[in-house]
Amino acid sequence: MPVQVIDGAPETLLPSHLQKVDLKYLQWGCDQANKYFQGTVILSYPLTKLVNGTEFFKIVLQESENSCSKTSTINVLFFGRLADDCGKVVHQGDTMVVAGFNVAKSPSANEDDRHCCHLEVSEDAGSAVYPVAPKYTYTPLNHLKDGTIVNLYGAVKFFKPPYISKGTDYCSVVTIVDQSNVKLTCTLFNGNLDALPKIYKIGDIVRFHRIKIREYNKQMQGITGIGFASLTFDGTVGAPIVPRTSSKSYSFTEEEQKTIEELRTWAASNLSVCGPTAKLSDVQPMLFFDLTCQLVGKAEVDGSSFLLKVWDGTKCPHPSWKVLVEESDLEGDKVLIHQLRNLIVDILVYDNHVKLAKSLKVGSFLRIYSLHTKQASAENQPDVSYVEFHLHGGTCYGRGIRVLPENNPDVKELKAFMDSVNLTESQNVESMSSMELDGIFSNLSYQSYSQRCQQLSVTVLTDHQHLDDTALNTILNSSVPQQYRIRAKLRTFKPQKLYQSVKLYCSKCNSLQEVPDGDDFDLILRDCAASAPNPEVHNSLWYDSEVWDTENQGQRKIAVHFVKHDELLQEPEDTLIMVQGGMLKEIRKLSRRFKCIIPVRSTKEDLELLDLSAPFLLQGKIWHYGCKQCSNQKTIQSLSSLAEEEPSWEPTEIARVLGIEPLQYVFVMKFTLDDGTGALDAYLFDYEKFFQIPASEVLTSSLLQEKMEMIMNILCPPGTKLDDLPWLECFIRSYNVKDGMEQQVCYQIFDTMVAEDVI
Ligand SMILES: [Zn+2]
Repeated sequence: MPVQVIDGAPETLLPSHLQKVDLKYLQWGCDQANKYFQGTVILSYPLTKLVNGTEFFKIVLQESENSCSKTSTINVLFFGRLADDCGKVVHQGDTMVVAGFNVAKSPSANEDDRHCCHLEVSEDAGSAVYPVAPKYTYTPLNHLKDGTIVNLYGAVKFFKPPYISKGTDYCSVVTIVDQSNVKLTCTLFNGNLDALPKIYKIGDIVRFHRIKIREYNKQMQGITGIGFASLTFDGTVGAPIVPRTSSKSYSFTEEEQKTIEELRTWAASNLSVCGPTAKLSDVQPMLFFDLTCQLVGKAEVDGSSFLLKVWDGTKCPHPSWKVLVEESDLEGDKVLIHQLRNLIVDILVYDNHVKLAKSLKVGSFLRIYSLHTKQASAENQPDVSYVEFHLHGGTCYGRGIRVLPENNPDVKELKAFMDSVNLTESQNVESMSSMELDGIFSNLSYQSYSQRCQQLSVTVLTDHQHLDDTALNTILNSSVPQQYRIRAKLRTFKPQKLYQSVKLYCSKCNSLQEVPDGDDFDLILRDCAASAPNPEVHNSLWYDSEVWDTENQGQRKIAVHFVKHDELLQEPEDTLIMVQGGMLKEIRKLSRRFKCIIPVRSTKEDLELLDLSAPFLLQGKIWHYGCKQCSNQKTIQSLSSLAEEEPSWEPTEIARVLGIEPLQYVFVMKFTLDDGTGALDAYLFDYEKFFQIPASEVLTSSLLQEKMEMIMNILCPPGTKLDDLPWLECFIRSYNVKDGMEQQVCYQIFDTMVAEDVI
């Protein structure tokens, strides 16, 4: 056995005739037959063959001691079978012992700054190699330091299944936590999908070796470095401890078995498992959930979407959509697809998930994370609704697809259930109820999820944690004003159409108003475009003007005035422009390129702002409005004072010089809270703190709208009984409002935000 792993200190385990040699005493020409050298592998080259066909493998060893000395590293060359054996098991970072080597002059010593000799290791020379099983120490997550490389254990609190990142590498994001309650987010890259941790659900336990720690924004982060390796274990208490790994050589001690058991027990009572799993029979419209299923068919729809036909043995209680594809484009067993037609659902996956979806094998078992069900109705029959299944692009909330191996416990359970489904029944009885199926296969995981969410709160307080909860009936019978910490469930909320919750608020006169929609702005722009730009006011000391004719649109002209700084034009992304005569479409286009746009019209003497029903400023997708009541508009010339300074074009600054009282975007919602002792309506009035979503951006971002929909879906899942709703921890205050002659008591939520693991 030329390569034999030794577990412990080499001195006590190596043959007694061997003596350790230090690099400083190593010389060419001396007999080294009874010497051994111990070092750490700092570099290893790929296994190759020499011209004569002999296997060849080269590594660089660093002497453990004196490692600061300049020649503390030495090249070690392996030949023949030893090269082959070592090439397969030796990794960077390993410690190893070589014995019975030949010493030769290193031809590259002048260039590589290593020892002037190198070691030649081969069976012919009577060499032996002993990789020393390393004794790993694991750093608790509250002891991490910037710039170190460490080994860690943790329970998975959040993860994104591997996705193809910008290059060709796969990327996975994992947030882990341990008993110290400190969490660490790790961004892991690898060209090989199998080298990334095989995490299937929140609560799985991971072991990372050689992960690099760095501090960013006062938070520790983990990133993959050289020699990174991982093992993943099922997080279920009592499940067999079998690592998921593609590596054939890994160490695992009994002590570590204990570490995993302790972490499992801790995680079971301390980790909120959000990312609910559900069966198709549990599906409600407007739900985000994780689905475990089998792929029975797939087809390309277009470049950016791909169809997956899946089933899980249960029947979706709502009619679901069928995505039309050419019969010839559909891959999968047509007979089976027809047989299962009442149980199969069609899922459309988009953008970054398409490539992975294409590579999936029909018949494989999948977990699809953060799948979205949407209610839709047929165009010609608005009263007939059905459910659509979408896996949207992007990776927020861990959205993605993961193939589960056949030996996964959830897959085994699923297969057993699928085998028990009577297909002839599902074929003939169109309305097989999900209740019947529930009898056979209860949706255990879904129930345990809601049970756990019942204990943990889906919102957190940002202050006042020291206060005790007050029951709602106590609050309802108390004097006003006061402040309370409460724990209650969100029975219902208004508005149900979330975009309607965004309003414009003036902090000066306390007025609230609806956000004007694009059509209003379009009308104002069309009105302005009717009169031609006045060339007299073009080009001034502080702006340059350009006028364009519109093609095929009669006489309409667009004037763009570029504001200068120090007599010079700036880069478009730093520039404020004033636009006259542009239509909404053109203004939107310009706002993608220029930092700020102020829509204007021209009078005989000057440019001027439009009516305040229109936004006075557009920045990217955000439209800024002013209060009609509180603004005291100044001339457009006032802007020139801002242009003189190094202009950063802050909306508040622009509003100030123009004499405009800016309106702020806010979420205004009414939450009906119930804690079992009573119920009250509390207002949520929030700019961005509660949802961690800026109210100013939500109307123009479908991604943010979707995110908000998802959050509300977790806070108040549709069709859920009060008992099964999650708890909300909130801080509320009571206050009096005078409504004519009557005094009314109101409640407002503040210093509260949605818990991070919900987002
Ligand atoms: Zn006002």
